[in-house]
Amino acid sequence: MNPLFADLPTTVFEEMSGLARRHGAVNLGQGFPDNEGPEDVRAAAAKATMDGPNQYPPMVGLLSLREAVAAHYARHQGLSLDPETQVVVTSGATEALAASILALVRPGDEVVLFQPLYDAYLPLVKLAGGVPKLVRLTPPHWEMTEAALDAAFGPKTRVVVFNNPLNPSATAYGADQLARLAERCVRHDAVAICDEVWEHLVFDGRRHIPLYAMPGMAERTVKIGSAGKIFSLTGWKVGFVCAAPKLAGVVAKAHQFLTFTTPPNLQTAVAYGLGKADGYFDDMRAGYGRSRDRLAEGLKSEGFVVLPSAGTYFLNVDLTASGVSIGDREFCLRAVQEMGVAAIPVSAFYAQDPVTSIVRLCFAKKDSTLDAGIERLAEARRRFN
Ligand code: PMP
Ligand code: GLN
Repeated sequence: MNPLFADLPTTVFEEMSGLARRHGAVNLGQGFPDNEGPEDVRAAAAKATMDGPNQYPPMVGLLSLREAVAAHYARHQGLSLDPETQVVVTSGATEALAASILALVRPGDEVVLFQPLYDAYLPLVKLAGGVPKLVRLTPPHWEMTEAALDAAFGPKTRVVVFNNPLNPSATAYGADQLARLAERCVRHDAVAICDEVWEHLVFDGRRHIPLYAMPGMAERTVKIGSAGKIFSLTGWKVGFVCAAPKLAGVVAKAHQFLTFTTPPNLQTAVAYGLGKADGYFDDMRAGYGRSRDRLAEGLKSEGFVVLPSAGTYFLNVDLTASGVSIGDREFCLRAVQEMGVAAIPVSAFYAQDPVTSIVRLCFAKKDSTLDAGIERLAEARRRFN
């Protein structure tokens, strides 16, 4: 057995959803909406299933989807991508991350990563033989300081794995911070694997800026997206990698031995969905923005100190500032078992020196679910001291 996996705990998302099922809890933990996603996109998948083809699509994805991805990013983010050579369809962002990390990290390469980090990054970097260099980000601003970046980057840095908007902090990094990172990637000749699955989930009139668009980055950025997040269909697992032809080509070589391809019916439906009018994306953002505000206001009125949420499905509360003296993991375990509400301890996103006072809540839920969650969290805050 490979100790890399044998010694790993089950991910905190699975753990907390399992506990939520067992205790019949309101689940504000794992990030998924409690709606079924847009009906027309699902209808397109149903039609494609019945009409076919249902046999292996091309390894890099249906051309219709690669064209739709390129057109979508041209329209929404001003990028110019060649669908034939610069887009690879994967089975979710998770597979895109695995293919990119396995294809681009060589044993001994230093890889810059940011804590809090999404659970898949570190095991994949280690599997590839990379040497992790962690930048520790902290609340409330989760800023990438010049000093912290300089401490992590060095002559052996070959790859950076960056997530923007950042899960779990709900930070949307803007041009100034991206420029700091891009400047170092260029200086050290590093490739950035940029996980942008939350790109459409940014609130209050913000626009997502892809790292790919920063000066000098187009030839060294592997941009990862996920239809699961764009269409509130998290179970679909259709992702895409966009990169310069040389980088996209090597990622495709890894993808061919991970999953080889992705269900064609879902690819056809996602191609349809990416072409939806701007109004769909604006309405989706506005809806989730209202849910964020409902959860934030409800928690504040119950005495919680809430951190800003610029993007993602998530809102964080600061336990210590809210007068709760126990740590985030204990709070979450007791909340799901004793109060019937599941949340995610942010310490689970740190490999070293964790921040232990922050709890992540998913607001992509019906109002009634949010209200029930607020009530139970309020009771937990009163009791767990
Ligand atoms: N990266 C991040 C930062 C995520 O939050 C998620 C899931 N929410 C993923 C990757 C995985 O995306 P997918 O379901 O498309 O594999
Ligand atoms: N990305 C989701 C979250 O952050 C979880 C996905 C998963 O469970 N692998 O909650």
